[in-house]
Amino acid sequence: MPETMPPDIAARFRTLVAERDQLDAEAAAPKLVEPRGLYQGRAAFVLTPRSVDEVAAIVRLAHETGTIVVPQGGNTGLVGGQTPDESGRAILLSTARLDRIREVDAEGNLMVVEAGVTLQRAQEAAEAAGRLFPLSLGSEGTCTIGGNIATNAGGTAVLAYGNTRDLVLGVEAVLPDGRVWNGLRRLRKDNTGYDLKHLFIGSEGTLGIVTAAVLKLFPAPRETATAFVGLSSPQAALALFQIARHHAGPALTGCEIMPRIGIDFTLRHMAGARDPLEAVHPWYILLELSSPLAMGLGETLEAILAEAFEAGVVDDAAIAASGEQSASFWRLRLGLSEVQGHEGGSIKHDVSAPVARVAAFIEEATAAVEAHLPGARVVAFGHIGDGNIHFNVSQPIGADKAQYLAGWDAMNRVVHAVVAAHGGSVAAEHGVGRLKRGLLEDVKSDVELDLMRAVKRALDPKGVFNPGVVLAETRS
Ligand code: FAD
Repeated sequence: MPETMPPDIAARFRTLVAERDQLDAEAAAPKLVEPRGLYQGRAAFVLTPRSVDEVAAIVRLAHETGTIVVPQGGNTGLVGGQTPDESGRAILLSTARLDRIREVDAEGNLMVVEAGVTLQRAQEAAEAAGRLFPLSLGSEGTCTIGGNIATNAGGTAVLAYGNTRDLVLGVEAVLPDGRVWNGLRRLRKDNTGYDLKHLFIGSEGTLGIVTAAVLKLFPAPRETATAFVGLSSPQAALALFQIARHHAGPALTGCEIMPRIGIDFTLRHMAGARDPLEAVHPWYILLELSSPLAMGLGETLEAILAEAFEAGVVDDAAIAASGEQSASFWRLRLGLSEVQGHEGGSIKHDVSAPVARVAAFIEEATAAVEAHLPGARVVAFGHIGDGNIHFNVSQPIGADKAQYLAGWDAMNRVVHAVVAAHGGSVAAEHGVGRLKRGLLEDVKSDVELDLMRAVKRALDPKGVFNPGVVLAETRS
């Protein structure tokens, strides 16, 4: 590790965790690069503490010595908040070894898990107890519960179950001064003053480090019905969403839009991918119904499609005949993030609009991008039922990748102008991190920014936690 810290302070950090939990350069390297390679950092130490006491000891010393702490979970974040800067002064505090599932209480419909438990392990533990933990992301094999909480992750089940914020009953966190706050409450109702857990949810590692959480569980689904639908436009996709919502109500648990170009990329770059439909369509919807009640969801799905065909909203559809077929539909959708990397540079926009305006947003933003850079390939996909679109733009065929990516900010401005015109958000579910920090001044009022800075100062007066993430650096 770089010699970027005074030796006496470095020696004190070395005493706080076992040697095996102080990663050497080779083990640390993958944790110092953001998954898309947008950020590469350095750190004085990469530490993987195994207990809350060890985390607290590291943070106490960081507070005393003014050492920067960057929390990291699975390193799947898409806005660079988990990557230290290039100064090499920071401690990268990885939760990889805080990985115990402390308790699954099926009767109480909750589980207590440590921050470094991967989302997939949490889902599996819930399933083993006959329950559902509904958060679902393409990165679920790697991302952690701590990271999900810190980013208030969304994903494909928000439609029915809400964001991470809606799934957390309690939080345990180490505060920037090293104190441990045990907020592991199990209560559905608790109005004893400010609900402090919400400060940590979505705080992106700027207010301390989450070490464990109490998560809500739900009855496991007994029935699932999935369809892969071909249609002509985002407007048609929105109309299908409304019909499905009307028929299925809370049993509509997934409604994901995909463009043809995204399916083409997936067929080209994902092993084993197959188009579920014979004909080619400009747009697709992956529709999923599920319920803990045996309510005949297959018939509900058929009724939705029948009405949609009759209204001229849908052109084609395949209904999954098995769990395996349903999983193959989902693989097409979840592979979309990854396959774009094989097509050269991709400029990302994780944006949202009010649901009723999301189709107009997609159409207008696409036209604006095509006027801005002829040949740019828009890959707009995602959670149409939440109004959240990953409006990604792949480089024109044959373009130089570095030159294309140099136009990132200019492309952002084109897309974000359309977002603003529709009253949307420029950071819908991935957060602000480093990538979007510069945008906050444009989208938040002075009052909001003042409040955010006041919260940061109150919890982290020395500005040691993730400086430069979300808010501009406030170190004293
Ligand atoms: P990291 O990347 O390690 O960290 C993310 C942020 O949280 C950083 O600011 C970090 O400092 C902070 N942090 C991490 N752990 C803690 C902790 N214990 N305490 C305090 N701060 C902490 N996101 C969505 O919302 N919806 C999606 O559908 C989605 N799909 C994705 C698909 C793919 C293929 C990929 C690569 C990413 C996707 N993401 C999605 C983004 C990402 O997976 C989420 O943001 C996830 O919640 C990050 O978890 P992590 O453990 O990897 O966190």
